[in-house]
Amino acid sequence: MSFAELGLSAELLRAVAAQGYTHPTPIQCQAIPAVLSGRDVLAGAQTGTGKTAAFTLPMLQRLSAAQPAQSGRRPRRPRALVLTPTRELAAQVGESVRLYGQHLPLRSLQIFGGVGMGPQVEQLRRGVDILVATPGRLLDHQGQGNVDFGGIEILVLDEADRMLDMGFIHDIRRIIKLLPRQRQNLLFSATYSREIEQLATGLLQDPQRIEV
Ligand code: AMP
Repeated sequence: MSFAELGLSAELLRAVAAQGYTHPTPIQCQAIPAVLSGRDVLAGAQTGTGKTAAFTLPMLQRLSAAQPAQSGRRPRRPRALVLTPTRELAAQVGESVRLYGQHLPLRSLQIFGGVGMGPQVEQLRRGVDILVATPGRLLDHQGQGNVDFGGIEILVLDEADRMLDMGFIHDIRRIIKLLPRQRQNLLFSATYSREIEQLATGLLQDPQRIEV
């Protein structure tokens, strides 16, 4: 199996080749076609399996394939939201989004606590396509009216089990309620528990289950 056979665009194949990746990992072989097809996905995958590229590559492709009509001078609002448990993971995923999307006209922004709100607010005002965020800081921005969730097409919960362990379930549920109903949902978790199953049942519609 090659990345080209998975259906990725030339721009993404170039970015993947620049990373030195020769073959997709097992989670990528399964998740990339599923996400490209528009289905919801429930994936069990540990760190180190290539899970970040497994959701980032097809997410970028879907966003670049269908650009929404720009309405007037209004800055673009986010179309994809990736939630992560920690600022370190947000930074890491955000960097992957930037690297893999380097040949695509998509803007991404990392949002996490422990740093000033100001630069994040400024970037939100200028318009972004992809948000990679920790739940708490994202809700701070939402509470201040800095972010518009009305254009979200894709939601990714990365390391969902860790987010639940860290007590983010209420924040996650609050954020989900603010999103448009019609959207694609991807849930990645290293472990399964009753809580993860409950979250998945409420969130995902007829998901493709992937286990590596
Ligand atoms: P992750 O599981 O997303 O944390 O990725 C673990 C590491 O694998 C990262 O350093 C990636 O750059 C790397 N990686 C992801 N996909 C591939 C691939 N297809 N071939 C080689 N390395 C990869």
